[in-house]
Amino acid sequence: MAFETRLEQLTAHHAAELVRRGEISSVELTRATLERIAALDDTIHAYLTVTAERALAQARDADARRAHLRRVGETPPPLLGVPMTIKDVISTQGVTTTAGSRILENFAPVYDAAVIEKLHAAGAHLIGKTNPDEFAMGSSTENSAFGVTRNPWDLERVPGGSSGGSAAAMAADEGIFALGTDTGGSVRQPASFTNTVGLRPSYGRVSRWGVIAFASSLDQVGPMTKDVRDAALILQCIAGSDARDSTTVDSPVPNYVEALGQATEPSLQGLRVGVPREYFIAGLAPQVETALRAALTHLETLGAEIHTVQLPHTQYALPTYYLLAPAEASANLARYDSVKYGLRVDAPGDVWDVMRATRGRGFGAEVKRRIMLGAYALSAGYYDAYYLKAQKVRTLIKQDFDNAFAQVDVLVSATTPTPAFRIGEKTDDPLQMYLADIFTLAQPLAGIPALCLPCGFSDGLPIGLQIMARAFDETTMLRVAYAYEQTTDWHTRKPDLSRAAI
Ligand code: GLN
Repeated sequence: MAFETRLEQLTAHHAAELVRRGEISSVELTRATLERIAALDDTIHAYLTVTAERALAQARDADARRAHLRRVGETPPPLLGVPMTIKDVISTQGVTTTAGSRILENFAPVYDAAVIEKLHAAGAHLIGKTNPDEFAMGSSTENSAFGVTRNPWDLERVPGGSSGGSAAAMAADEGIFALGTDTGGSVRQPASFTNTVGLRPSYGRVSRWGVIAFASSLDQVGPMTKDVRDAALILQCIAGSDARDSTTVDSPVPNYVEALGQATEPSLQGLRVGVPREYFIAGLAPQVETALRAALTHLETLGAEIHTVQLPHTQYALPTYYLLAPAEASANLARYDSVKYGLRVDAPGDVWDVMRATRGRGFGAEVKRRIMLGAYALSAGYYDAYYLKAQKVRTLIKQDFDNAFAQVDVLVSATTPTPAFRIGEKTDDPLQMYLADIFTLAQPLAGIPALCLPCGFSDGLPIGLQIMARAFDETTMLRVAYAYEQTTDWHTRKPDLSRAAI
């Protein structure tokens, strides 16, 4: 059937509805998306693996299932027939899962991550795995062992990271919806660079079981989508407690989609929006600040009250994060020992020589840097001065948010201090790269949810708005985001890729 929108441009909720109504088939939807990937991905390089055959077979199954459910009068699951795009740090049974690292280059997990099980149960099927920074350490995908992903808005720029492949796939319509992981901004920062939506859930809302660990007290899986309704829908499908991840919280999952409210005449009457003073740093690009201030004015016209609030420990978020995350990473990455998983490089000598050779060749420079930083911070003699101190500061950062949320319902800030930077611009200076995360590190340290959605452009490059909420109050965060999105049109803009297609 004829559509003004090409099938691969659809959002997940729209695609699922069309499949449900029988207006399109899952095979058509999946094929259109695969064709888009084939046309663009040599240029964009969002995907590391495309599971074309398998995706089409599963699409056929989905179509047969829909026909059957219709005959027996049952409602299909919410994502029946919709293909999913998954960051390559999330385990997929029988499908190579590299974490962007040579050390896992040929690793095919024997089970699906909990989030994949849940999305299968919701009727979705895998279409491919996307490029991350190695072990999700980075802000640009330049740390991937398998090459950089390009930003569909400007092919000379990074798409952000570490979930840059998933974000680029969304921006270029090389997928319908995606998952990323966010340890210190990896879902939100790439969303900001690509005019897409990225949602980091509260810590404990979504199971980490089967997700390749980076920093376990910070890692969360989050939806990366083309609009806010999809972020709500996908969160709905992946949220909930899981006996296999004891850090998940056993509280009921609200109906996030219903909580969005009405698309017509959205109102934020009475909503208190806090604007943290400390987020107006010297490095904030003027165009980003202008877009943020315009967004605040817009929220006001929707009925929100704007209050300035203080988060006095904000300046310590970056050093705290870059101490704790590497410390946890150094422990998590000890499992790549040349025996249990992935690569083994043979070397003369004993098992230690083999391990040294394997890790030496298997890990990239940034991963090694973090293992060294982390092991140092955890070593006897330095533990109290660094690791323990950082844990204490983490508590202060969390208390800042507790105090702020006693006065306001959500906090709003820029997601990144600048729009997407150029490929290669920050690779020689890790500190400059870490500074790209300045606004997205405190929320994971505090365990609160945060979302990024489109709010403007600067010289053709997207700018993202960050909305943060109390722990487990994703509903309020989504409601604000939806009201903003429904009354603005930034999210409808698409990059011009006519010259990128082959
Ligand atoms: N850019 C941050 C880092 O390099 C965050 C990464 C992430 O969220 N996975 O650690």
